[in-house]
Amino acid sequence: MISRKPIDIPCTLQERKVLEQIAMAARELGVPCYLIGGFVRDKLLNRNTKDMDVVCVGDGIALAHKVASIIGENVPVNFFKTYGTAQIKWNELEIEFVGARKESYRDHSRNPEVEAGTLQDDQLRRDFTINAMAVSLKEDDYGSLLDPFNGLADLDQKLIRTPLEPSQTFSDDPLRMMRAIRFASQLQFTIHPDAFTAIQENAHRIKIVSQERITDEFNKIMLSTKPSVGLDLLYRGGLMKIIFPQMIDLVGVEMVEGKGHKDNFYHTLQVVDNISRHTKDLWLRWAALLHDIGKPATKRFEPAHGWTFHGHDAVGGKMVPRIFARLKLPQHEKMRLVKKLVELHLRPISLTKESITDSAIRRLLFDAGDDIDALMMLCEADITSKNRAKVKRYLENFELVRQRLKEVEESDRIRNWQPPVTGEVIMETFGLQPCKQVGDLKNAIREAILDGEIPNTYEAAYAFMLEKAGAMDLHPVK
Ligand code: ATP
Ligand code: MG
Repeated sequence: MISRKPIDIPCTLQERKVLEQIAMAARELGVPCYLIGGFVRDKLLNRNTKDMDVVCVGDGIALAHKVASIIGENVPVNFFKTYGTAQIKWNELEIEFVGARKESYRDHSRNPEVEAGTLQDDQLRRDFTINAMAVSLKEDDYGSLLDPFNGLADLDQKLIRTPLEPSQTFSDDPLRMMRAIRFASQLQFTIHPDAFTAIQENAHRIKIVSQERITDEFNKIMLSTKPSVGLDLLYRGGLMKIIFPQMIDLVGVEMVEGKGHKDNFYHTLQVVDNISRHTKDLWLRWAALLHDIGKPATKRFEPAHGWTFHGHDAVGGKMVPRIFARLKLPQHEKMRLVKKLVELHLRPISLTKESITDSAIRRLLFDAGDDIDALMMLCEADITSKNRAKVKRYLENFELVRQRLKEVEESDRIRNWQPPVTGEVIMETFGLQPCKQVGDLKNAIREAILDGEIPNTYEAAYAFMLEKAGAMDLHPVK
């Protein structure tokens, strides 16, 4: 069914101008041309978007060049002959041009055979009804919504549905399963039950999709307002167990002698949601996702204590590099941040349990460095008790830790601190090359200062070094 109702999608003046320039270019080339996909969807939802997708019944690359020449200002056109697509970046806008196409899929690949087609063919190849709506840029029906699959009604009902038979849609291009779940999470929509069943049936097909594309979608889920929506759908849809099996090991509650532990999967999801209320930073959200990842490997039942997960912080930290490598996430700075937060996530809690000494606070400041605020945020997100009084007590304890962190930092300036006597000074004093003894002395000085045994000054550290070195039978060369 095609609605010819003119529609007024909410565009900025600049967007309107560009759309008119695209329409003019298409008219000059004599090709019918339409705005389609994410831009139409997002505008109708009043979401911010700068990605315009334009489809024309003809040569998309030629249209892009024509548009560029009309805009002027030497706008460059990037194009990919093999795919028949072209892209113009202009001001904040990214405009993608493609010729309308018909697709047929083969079993082993998500890249279809492609041939030129009509607008209807092109709409049929789109993944979801809400992504298949087009707005005409033709002169005779400029601005009309062409909505063959009732995408508008699905937008209203917040429903993700495929234009074609869902099982075929997902088997053809299994990335669409990730996209369905990502849209459900981003837009807080529901996946139509038939489509969700089709995801469960086709989950194994995700194996033919490249890790980069999977991770891209996963990160979009992580960045949505309430990531647990998408993470839970990945689990229930059967995708999580294939793309991220370590998460599945967190699922469930084991009972021994009538004692259970909390379900660490759903606890983790809640921690991710909690931290997401305070930060949009993807890597802090990843730290929340992985904070308990070491629990399955360290789980024990001790008759005297019940369930324990001793050392899950250290074990979890060790798992981070492998998980990041497998998911093709960044290997350096961001991975190290996540690893560090996982390793340290119990430290502030342990400080609420004892009377807090200055040296324990100094040590935490030293170990966390500039990431201390992120760590405290993670710890507060980790409180998922349903008992209000408990939550209040925990939060008050953390407030106390924050206060002490502030005081100790103000007096000792320990974050990003380096001990006043360096390795170079040690080597020079004792005529040493880099070796274990230098490392031992350096560590001893650092520990003594962090423990408050000696003050944080050069003189005190130097004297301490001489004393320690004497005990190691090392003597100054001069
Ligand atoms: P976003 O820009 O937020 O990622 P989007 O829907 O715009 O969302 P794009 O990847 O920009 O996604 O794709 C633009 C349009 O191309 C989509 O709206 C959809 O119509 C179509 N599309 C993208 N990927 C697929 C796919 N795997 N299968 C079918 N159609 C797709
Ligand atoms: Mg887009």
